[in-house]
Amino acid sequence: MATRKGNPYAAMAVPARRQFASDNYAGICPEAWAAMEEANRGHVVAYGNDPWTQEAADHIRDIFETRCEVFFVFNGTAANSLALASLCQSYHSVICHELAHVETDECGAPEFFSNGTKVLTVAGAHGKVSAEAVERVVKRRSDIHYPKPRAISLTQATEVGTVYTAEEIKAIWSVAKSHGLRIQMDGARFANAVVSLGVKPKEITWQAGVDVLCLGGTKNGAGVGEAVVFFDVKLAEEFDYRCKQSGQLASKMRYLSAPWVGLLKDGAWLRNATHANAMAARLESGLGRIVGLKILFPRQANAVFAEIPEAAVESLWKKGWLFYTFIGQGGCRLMCAWDTTENDVDAFLAELKSVL
Ligand SMILES: *Cc1c(COP(=O)(O)O)cnc(C)c1O
Repeated sequence: MATRKGNPYAAMAVPARRQFASDNYAGICPEAWAAMEEANRGHVVAYGNDPWTQEAADHIRDIFETRCEVFFVFNGTAANSLALASLCQSYHSVICHELAHVETDECGAPEFFSNGTKVLTVAGAHGKVSAEAVERVVKRRSDIHYPKPRAISLTQATEVGTVYTAEEIKAIWSVAKSHGLRIQMDGARFANAVVSLGVKPKEITWQAGVDVLCLGGTKNGAGVGEAVVFFDVKLAEEFDYRCKQSGQLASKMRYLSAPWVGLLKDGAWLRNATHANAMAARLESGLGRIVGLKILFPRQANAVFAEIPEAAVESLWKKGWLFYTFIGQGGCRLMCAWDTTENDVDAFLAELKSVL
């Protein structure tokens, strides 16, 4: 199976060690696991007409304090692509940051599932789309030969570990409104953004103009699954058909939805994110004390990007540490998860110092 380029020594990695490559290297958190186990007792109705799916969707409505429509799918690529497809016709375009997952990491799925909607990228500091950049792309052309801009995709937290404030999203919303654009949010790490900003989930979603959110469960502590949350419920019409046709309707849906109950019912999702962010902060401060290392972006969530000399990267890889060097604009991406420990961070820092 083709894997991402990166550590050529990956097969030699220490098996039980927690790694900094991605938060999807982590396992399932105890709360999600317990809910799965509870859901695994006896028969329930299939295809999402079960109490777990109902309860998980209700928790999401409670958390966002609104009557949204909720769907559970297997992964983020499906969530993003199908959500965007529900906003766009084939002749439309979606504006996103040039580093956005929908552009760089989904193998053309947003275009595929919308039958040709074009992704238009913009540059922007700290991995963020700005209101001005959106305005420029929309105003660049208005003739029939250009794919008509219809949606904006924002990643929260971004691919480089920064977060959009409510004000920044609202500024984008105001441009969106004036040009008839809808806003989709890729929230693979939405929880990390919520705790980083110290806001209510509604403040950075529907109260700031987000029409549909792809809420990440996998990186937060579930085993599988993301939720597609429509704040504009009209957009959810026939979304169930889209899910089914694309192979995203789980027949034993409770195994996608029960982990959400575990994550959401008493705040585990926020505890997990708070912890991951705190471990990244510890890592950032340790790296910051090493002379000659440069931190590349403001650390606002659970990722730290640092410029580490190539020879040191090679040595760390040989010692079995896994982390990526190709995400963002170069540099090493060090990602913390719900289960990263202070010891992991300190061990990594010590080993880094020893190879510099
Ligand atoms: C991980 C991730 C996703 C989801 O990716 P899948 O592998 O399809 O589940 C989406 N957006 C961002 C920014 C991510 O980091």
